[in-house]
Amino acid sequence: MDNCLFCKIIAGEIPSTKVYEDEYVYAFRDINPQAPVHILVVPKQHICCTRKIDETNSVYVAKCFEAIAKIAKAEGLDNGYRVINNCGEDGGQTVMHLHFHLLGGVSLGEKMI
Ligand code: 5GP
Ligand code: ZN
Repeated sequence: MDNCLFCKIIAGEIPSTKVYEDEYVYAFRDINPQAPVHILVVPKQHICCTRKIDETNSVYVAKCFEAIAKIAKAEGLDNGYRVINNCGEDGGQTVMHLHFHLLGGVSLGEKMI
């Protein structure tokens, strides 16, 4: 997808700190971390947001969550972590390429985010 920041990061056109990659998923550290561990887990197919997940592309979502389990283990998040998806304007999504925030390394408490 032209002019998509995360497509450019996946393609290596914009540098990122990669933590995981497979056929379906690219994961890298957030540039503005909100926790000691803050990783963005991104499908390699351009899907704009959760509104566009359907039976043709949901394998990418499943693979993102398989990756989250692997990354969390590799990052030592044995005591737990939080996964967040922001969708659309009201959800506060700023990059319109589906992604899951993996946050951890500290007790995040029981608040919403
Ligand atoms: P959203 O608000 O769309 O759910 O999350 C977008 C995330 O992308 C934000 O947490 C923001 O810090 C991160 N981000 C924006 N631009 C870049 C970038 O160029 N590199 C990296 N690594 N993260 C970015
Ligand atoms: Zn994209």
